[in-house]
This record gives sequence, C-alpha cells and structure tokens, in this order.
Amino acid sequence: MDFRHLSPVHKEECFCPNKELAVVIKKGNTIMIDIVKSGNTNCYLINTGNKNILVDTGTIADEQFLQKLKAKIPLEQIDLIILTHGHYDHVEYASVLQKEYGISILLHKNDLDKVTRGSMDFPPAKGFFSNFIRDVTLSGMKKAAYTPFTPDIVIENGNMAEYPDIQIIPLPGHTPGSIGIIFENNLFAGDLMMNMPFPSMSWFAEDFDILSQSIKKIQHLNLNRIYPGHGKSFSYSWLKYF
Ligand SMILES: [Zn+2]
Ligand SMILES: [Zn+2]
Repeated sequence: MDFRHLSPVHKEECFCPNKELAVVIKKGNTIMIDIVKSGNTNCYLINTGNKNILVDTGTIADEQFLQKLKAKIPLEQIDLIILTHGHYDHVEYASVLQKEYGISILLHKNDLDKVTRGSMDFPPAKGFFSNFIRDVTLSGMKKAAYTPFTPDIVIENGNMAEYPDIQIIPLPGHTPGSIGIIFENNLFAGDLMMNMPFPSMSWFAEDFDILSQSIKKIQHLNLNRIYPGHGKSFSYSWLKYF
C-alpha cells in the first residue's frame, strides 16, 4: 500500500470519530487500515505488516471499484479476501478477483449456499421506519443475483495459522454466515452494525434474535473502533447504547 500521500498527522495514531482512515505505527512496523468504497458499501484493506487482506469486494454497480482498489495496492499483492457475508453488495467483485488475479477467498460455511448459487434474498427489516426505508430502496426487489463462485477457504470457527494477527469471529444474525474480523482491537463488522447516520445494529437481519446475541458477544470484548459495512467507522464506546 502506498501511504506516501498522507500528511504527517496521519502517521500518528489516528482514530478521530469522523475519520474513515486509521493508521498506526507500532514498533517501527506500519500497521494500516484503509477504506475503498463501492457505492455505499465499505471495503477495507488491512496491512498486517506482512500480509494484505481485503475485507469485502463491493458491488458491480460501481464500475470504478477495481480502479480505486488498484490505486491503493497492486492487486497481485492482495494475499486474501475475507467476505463478511454473502450479500451482493459485499461480494460482487469476488469472482473477478479470484479468477483474474488468483486471490484466495475466505467465507463462513453458513453463507456458502448464497455465493455458490449466486443469489440472495434481501433480509427483512425490523420496525416501521426500517421497513419503509427497505421498501423504498429496494423498489419491491426481493432477490439479487450475481456471478457465483466457490470460496477457497470455508471456515466455521476460529483463526488461521498463516494470519496470526487477525481473529475471525462468527457474528450471525444479519445472515447465518456473517463474520467479524478483529485486527489490533478494531472490529470489521460487516453488516452486523451500521452507521447511517448514527451507529446502530443493522436494520436488516435474517434473524434479529441471533443478531442481538452477536452484538452481546462483542459487547464483552474490549475493542477500540468498529468499521461497519455501511457508514463511517465509530468508537467501540457506542456499543453501550445498543
Ligand atoms: Zn448484508
Ligand atoms: Zn451490506
């Protein structure tokens, strides 16, 4: 990743509430988190020091996504794609990145059926306001289709020996195979939570009870910052209001 364009202030720890970029230098090794937006979906680049991980791959409605990604990093330098879940707005460039650039894809087994089929049902919303927004934004659409693919790594629980710096935790509810990625006490939460316009749990879930349990699970962790799939990153302290 090329961070030469950053001003010196970014070379210190930077977790300001309204900044979408966080850069930390630790023991001389630069540890970096960067964001590449695709429509209103956030994709994140994590540089662990010796591995580059792309969290989610955006939507093909955003024709510029690969150009934006290439501006951050040569694609062949991406070691792994982690998909937070199998919804179209997070996975649509996955098949291209896998086929054309040979990048391995990791997904939780409980969302495997979505991506191998290349179709998904939009999850229900909770409450009047959310249902209103859902119906307006989806214009009556019930399903989305995308190019199917087979992930290279299908996980159920736990971590990977080759990536000791990241922790993957199942956070089901929004979908059964939703996962979070913890790196340096930051949680990449996928669609478990959102910040539209305030931090909240997702308005959409296949199972809201299970979603609440997943929120409780992370309320017991001591984290620094949450990077959601939609909206700006926010402080972990917001979780006490959920
Ligand atoms: Zn989703
Ligand atoms: Zn989403």
